[in-house]
Amino acid sequence: MSKVQTPPGLAADSFVRVRGAREHNLRDVNVDIPRDKVVVFTGVSGSGKSSLAFGTLYAEAQRRYLESVSPYARRLFQQMPVPEVDSVDGLPPAIALQQQRGGSSGRSSVGSITTLSNLLRMLYSRAGTYPAGLERLEAEAFSPNTPMGACKTCHGLGRILDVTETSMVPDDSLSIRNRAVASWPTAWQGQNLRDILITMGVDVDCPWRDLPRKTRDWILYTDETPAVPVYPGLTHEEVQEAIGQKKEPGYNGTFTGARRYILQTFARSQSATMRKRAESFMTAAECPECHGQRLNADALRVTFGGLNIAQLTAFPLEEIAIKLSDSAKSYQNESGSAKIIAAQRIVADMSARIGVLLHLGLGYLQMDRGVQTLSPGEYQRLRLGTQIYSNLFGVVYVLDEPSSGLHPADTEALLEALSKLKAAGNSLFLVEHNLDIIRQAEWIVDVGPMAGEAGGEVLYSGPPDGLRNVAASRTRTYLFSPQSLPHRTPQTPTGWLKLNGIYRNNLNDLSVSFPLGVFTSVTGVSGSGKSSLVSQVLTTVVAQALGQSLPDTEDGDGDTLSSLTPAGSPRGRIISGLNEVHRLVVIDQKPIGRTPRSNLATYTGLFDTIRKIFARTKLARERKYDAGWFSFNIAKGRCPHCEGAGSVMVELLFLPGVYAPCPVCHGSRYKPEVLEVTYRGKSIADVLAMNVEEAAAFFADDPAPSAALLTLMKGGLGHLRLGQPATELSGGEAQRIKLATELQKQRRGHTLYVLDEPTTGLHPLDVDRLMDHLQELVDSGNTVIAAEHDMRLVARGDWVIDMGPGAGSRGGHVVAAGTPSDVAATAGSMTAPFLQKYIT
Ligand code: ADP
Ligand code: ADP
Ligand code: ZN
Ligand code: ZN
Repeated sequence: MSKVQTPPGLAADSFVRVRGAREHNLRDVNVDIPRDKVVVFTGVSGSGKSSLAFGTLYAEAQRRYLESVSPYARRLFQQMPVPEVDSVDGLPPAIALQQQRGGSSGRSSVGSITTLSNLLRMLYSRAGTYPAGLERLEAEAFSPNTPMGACKTCHGLGRILDVTETSMVPDDSLSIRNRAVASWPTAWQGQNLRDILITMGVDVDCPWRDLPRKTRDWILYTDETPAVPVYPGLTHEEVQEAIGQKKEPGYNGTFTGARRYILQTFARSQSATMRKRAESFMTAAECPECHGQRLNADALRVTFGGLNIAQLTAFPLEEIAIKLSDSAKSYQNESGSAKIIAAQRIVADMSARIGVLLHLGLGYLQMDRGVQTLSPGEYQRLRLGTQIYSNLFGVVYVLDEPSSGLHPADTEALLEALSKLKAAGNSLFLVEHNLDIIRQAEWIVDVGPMAGEAGGEVLYSGPPDGLRNVAASRTRTYLFSPQSLPHRTPQTPTGWLKLNGIYRNNLNDLSVSFPLGVFTSVTGVSGSGKSSLVSQVLTTVVAQALGQSLPDTEDGDGDTLSSLTPAGSPRGRIISGLNEVHRLVVIDQKPIGRTPRSNLATYTGLFDTIRKIFARTKLARERKYDAGWFSFNIAKGRCPHCEGAGSVMVELLFLPGVYAPCPVCHGSRYKPEVLEVTYRGKSIADVLAMNVEEAAAFFADDPAPSAALLTLMKGGLGHLRLGQPATELSGGEAQRIKLATELQKQRRGHTLYVLDEPTTGLHPLDVDRLMDHLQELVDSGNTVIAAEHDMRLVARGDWVIDMGPGAGSRGGHVVAAGTPSDVAATAGSMTAPFLQKYIT
């Protein structure tokens, strides 16, 4: 038990007092945390920061809130666990601004979650310039998502999706037998369609372009679905003969036209891969009616400051702010008609709201940008910026690493936004690793000393300076002696991968040279184009050139229209260097899966090894249970009710569905008889419930699983449970799992590793471990390229490519490229001054 003292000078009643917190790994924690202050929770990954900030404080606030709502509404939130804690006093209502776990859902956009879209519609409705004869329109009439507002031709989509002969038959010199109709299904189903055409008398061996127009059109566009007898392997003449002789056909086949097949697959297929494939044969043409503006003709005729609402929305927020204030100025001298007053009010409100977002470094975003295309950090800052205008006070905001995705130049603005929320009378609890932010905290709660069972204690709770004397703290070293890193001489590249003609988002005919055989960081303010360059262009063109398909990390129901967005597909040419690279491995923050069915154990392959161990036990052999019985993805041994998911999806009225524990197996995922099989006293479900650290101890004598488990521990993942559903992992954790899985594979040849902000969610201590990992990769002859903000890591690398100078249209250039010390000395680089601090 930790001792608690109320520091002198602070009234006891201005504290949140936690007694006996035991959530997850917390060890009966007692701690007093001040209200109305910026409080930062620190500690290594897995030490228990989130268990205290989110699992205890936020969960308790939520529980109390739910007690005040109707029993019906409360039922909807049943999945919120009640925290293990004796008492929490002085706790205000809490709002969590967490990073999205497992990807966001829904179709919200920047405009909708900031309420800016609503305000803009109101502005056009009340204060727009209407052409003569047009009645005043309601605000909804300016939304493409309402029947009233949507363009009648494209239903508000802005595009018309369709197929053409060229899109379905890319090479018309091929015959049908040689798969001229590329869009047809492959394998058996495709052969079936071909055999049907043989029965029908179509020449399947003649080049497509030589078939009669009528035949081609029918095959491509017909909606008829005739059923005909199929005699596999016979020619048309032989088929005729067989039918004449009333021979039994192989089967009866039903024909589907190529277009019908694609549209149906695109609209109805359960499989994301199938939908993606179908999409690749479609063309998206701009809607001829609205020209991509998505609104009906009347709405588009209304203007403000000379622009219609679609034209204005297409600008980044920073430009919208300028255009709005210019138009407001033009009103200044006019007398106060109702219309002018409405315009001034709405413009003032919008400008203030946009101002906050600009300040948080989000001015480059467009209102129609889909939330699912934002990084988790951008999303969280957007919500933070929106909260500043919610006029709430007396609330605790609990934030999860708000600095993630943020360049050091932008952290100042973040701190200001936080202090605005505080000044409005709120408390701020942040879980954070960024040393610049921790230094600015008014209060630190340091949890540790290490992860899991070796953590869970509050080592310190007080003003930052006092942490200096706490010997057990792993945070203290980094906070008070930042130059603790040894000097490192950059290694010389073994070659160069040169690209030019790069286009994507704000990159416009860019040329970049990436050094090979070394570790390169790509830096720049957020929105400068780092991910466009690294995660989008580099990965795409290298994968294409190597003939590799990009691991499209189970994008589930992600937007299948992605490749049809105005951003277009990433483009760039490789001029040289590719012959040295044998393989591309992309390690990003995309979830490793979107259902509770994929988890740490399945993803890393650990689960296969462990299932084999269970199949070798005496009882399993007696009962003839093979490894398949211990899989929750195979019918044999899994719980039939939830089909091994352990949870069931509960559909909620008006709200997104949630997963709740399966009522039959209570989340164990297995049939009771499978759970009777134990290895050293533990069932397969018990093993899945262990965290990596516990499992490493448990399997210490089994070489195969323990090697994999040790790699995961080295990656700072000791605190994750083996069965932890992919949906509960943060983006940073998902990325580290991918990294650890890669490191386990012994690979020959030169691999190019591409990472996206690998330090997200990592305490500086864990960053040190990560550096060792990356160094190992480089030492064994590979190349590592990472978009990164952590200057400690950047300074230790071999090469830096600094993007910028600003964000959005003010970025997209290479500002500096060279060794860390070269870039640190480059005038005009926003990164240089921050990097300089870590150059030794
Ligand atoms: P931090 O936020 O410091 O990275 P956490 O609070 O997330 O750490 O985790 C602390 C400990 O609690 C770890 O050992 C972790 O395995 C455990 N833990 C986290 N979430 C859960 C959960 N949902 N169920 C059981 N244990 C958990
Ligand atoms: P960084 O990685 O440096 O933060 P990005 O490459 O994500 O920057 O963004 C560069 C620019 O491209 C920004 O103006 C951003 O708004 C824009 N952008 C990024 N992704 C998309 C997208 N999916 N659709 C439209 N614009 C995008
Ligand atoms: Zn249209
Ligand atoms: Zn079940």
